[in-house]
Amino acid sequence: MQKNVNIFTIAVTVTLMAGLFIPIPSDATELTVYSSRMEQLIQPVFDAYTQTTGVSIKFITDKDGPLLQRLSREGADSPADIFMTVDAGALWKAAHDNLLKPVSSPTLLVNIPPHLRDPQHRWFGLSVRARTLVFNTQKVKPALLTTYEALGNPEWKNRICLRTSKSVYNQSLVAMMIAEMGMAQTEKIVAGWVANLAIDPAPDDTKLLEAIAAGICDVGIVNSYYYGRLIKKNPNLPLSLFWPNQKDRGVHVNVSGAGVVRSTKQASAAVKFLEWLSSKEAQNLFADVNFEYPVNAQVLPHRTVAKWGTFVQSKMNVGDAGRLQVEAIKLMDRVGYR
Ligand code: FE
Repeated sequence: MQKNVNIFTIAVTVTLMAGLFIPIPSDATELTVYSSRMEQLIQPVFDAYTQTTGVSIKFITDKDGPLLQRLSREGADSPADIFMTVDAGALWKAAHDNLLKPVSSPTLLVNIPPHLRDPQHRWFGLSVRARTLVFNTQKVKPALLTTYEALGNPEWKNRICLRTSKSVYNQSLVAMMIAEMGMAQTEKIVAGWVANLAIDPAPDDTKLLEAIAAGICDVGIVNSYYYGRLIKKNPNLPLSLFWPNQKDRGVHVNVSGAGVVRSTKQASAAVKFLEWLSSKEAQNLFADVNFEYPVNAQVLPHRTVAKWGTFVQSKMNVGDAGRLQVEAIKLMDRVGYR
């Protein structure tokens, strides 16, 4: 018996000692990101993180739909640690489909204002994208512009351009209007826009800006960074941005952002990466490359973006864009917005 105990004790001791030499998993050396944010916008940021921390970032890029389907299909076996996208509606959908993990990070809560992140801490905005009015400076006096809803008034008949309702940006805009003003009021406004269209809806924001610059229409609604890109190429275009609804609910904003994938085995490393993305150090890298706005109020926008002026933004939680997306699509369909 005594002998058995001794053998047992020795066995336990040897096992414990061996344990000392088993390498303890340290922080991740590689994270995998599934991203619908374009490669040229994320690569420089990921490279900077690798230089700072030694953690390399693998990524694949695709549209939101296929990425979300892939995460669902892969389930617990997914190699992804982080899902990154350019629309709050897509972040909301990922969380709603149970693909994201709630994370506890005081840093993220301090760096990112409440309306730009999930109340349940499953996703976080990392840059702000303002969807605002743009007008032809040779045809419109800015004093005549006021609100998104005023573009539905009769004086704008045959004078406005819109991007197609297939754009998630417009679906999010209309969804947020439903959240702010209710269904009936929003439907009236969007029907007014459709009645005032100068031409069929444009396939993208850049084509819309070009139509306004060419004088085909006078005013439209775009994400401000498309204006930034076009003006960089051609500074002489007769275009200017206008910040609507400054006396009431503010400019409609959306986010590009990210969440930690539920099945990750590297949650703490993934959270550290998100914290870094929200930090002073990284915010300009993440936002400036696409003329977007930092989410972190401690960080100033790029000087080009700063020249477009400051504005009051809507403080409604951007997740409402996802919650009300289906309703928004139905509404646009009802009023014949193609
Ligand atoms: Fe875009």
